[in-house]
Amino acid sequence: MSTYSGPVFDMARSQFETIADHIGIPQHERPRILLPKRAITVACPIHRDDGSIAVFEGYRVQHHLTFGPTKGGTRYAANVDLGEVAALAIWMSWKCALAGLPYGGAKGGIAVDPHSLSRRELEALSRRYMQEMIPFVGPQTDVPAPDMGTNEQVMAWFMDTYSMYQGQAVPEVVTGKPVAVGGTVGRREATGRGVAHLVGRAMERIGLDPRGATAIVQGYGNVGSVSALTLAEMGVRILGVSDHTACYHDPRGLDLAAIERHVAAHGSLAGFSTELAFDPKELLVQPCDVLVPAAVERVIDADVARRLRCRILAEGANGPTTPEADRVLAERDEIFVLPDILCNSGGVIVSYFEWVQDIQRLFWEEDEVKRRANQILDRAFHQVQERVQRERIPQRMAAMAIGVEKVLDGKRRRGLFP
Ligand code: GLU
Repeated sequence: MSTYSGPVFDMARSQFETIADHIGIPQHERPRILLPKRAITVACPIHRDDGSIAVFEGYRVQHHLTFGPTKGGTRYAANVDLGEVAALAIWMSWKCALAGLPYGGAKGGIAVDPHSLSRRELEALSRRYMQEMIPFVGPQTDVPAPDMGTNEQVMAWFMDTYSMYQGQAVPEVVTGKPVAVGGTVGRREATGRGVAHLVGRAMERIGLDPRGATAIVQGYGNVGSVSALTLAEMGVRILGVSDHTACYHDPRGLDLAAIERHVAAHGSLAGFSTELAFDPKELLVQPCDVLVPAAVERVIDADVARRLRCRILAEGANGPTTPEADRVLAERDEIFVLPDILCNSGGVIVSYFEWVQDIQRLFWEEDEVKRRANQILDRAFHQVQERVQRERIPQRMAAMAIGVEKVLDGKRRRGLFP
């Protein structure tokens, strides 16, 4: 295990050990399930606009290849490292298995603050990273997608770079592309819409009417913003939002349309308001019905978990809740937790639809994308609820147990080569 380290990897390992104990995976079988199949580290040099050369470290971790290609996003963030990427890849495996997708998990990343690069530099870095990955990715090997710090444009550059080397357009090598080059309608909104859909299901369970309910959303990127907007469409009042530049809170409810216009014009929340500015550290513990962490890992530690004042914790982010916080939440069963691998799985589910459509060269209407995504989300949600009831375990344990068992079962049935 020494290749992978750091707090995020420790968290993925500790969650896995808890599940492995619960479902009784023998010790000798555990590394086969947990240890990533491959990890690639690349140095990506680019020319800066000032003529100098800068080198950025890139990663791709492919967790397991039992069911088909690996699948997962690509994160651009200053502090990305191999341990974090490996943890995110492992979480993708449980997420894909829970949703019943024919994928193992993967994740990629570059240690760069994308805001520190010009558009030309960002394109050069994205293309160089994809070029370095050509021997390791492919439509039947590993299919990248967006994650924090990347978007449709970066996926278009990935697709173009790979395709130029193949001598033909290969849209199915990456998902989350613009619709114009083989993306699917509904992918950009898929994660946030899925979050809101499952919040709706959780509300039905606890008897909460979305009309008149309130929510706070941490993170205003693709996931956070679409979650907030979709919840608002359901009648939920958004009391607080934040991103890495600013944080706002209004107990009467924020004007989301005005926030959207501001973000469209300025690229972030900074400068939206001075009166509504709020301490970002306190945002998560303000009273609300639905709390959506949709930013980075480990924002809910044991202390925050004790102070939460929400009814539903909807994990739009990957890994927002530490194992110590999980122990606190297990005692606080008045909080309905929608764990990340269920809550944010709408994104990879619609990525799967994008890949299928690209392979078939047959594209679906948006209604079909939504209907089929909700069908998979509902099935996973009900499987998790059933397991929670049957075994009297927390939601995360139930969701992970289903995912881990599917991977374990696949590996046992395929057997060990040679
Ligand atoms: N990065 C997203 C996630 O964490 C999406 C991955 C994908 O679409 O492949 O689930």
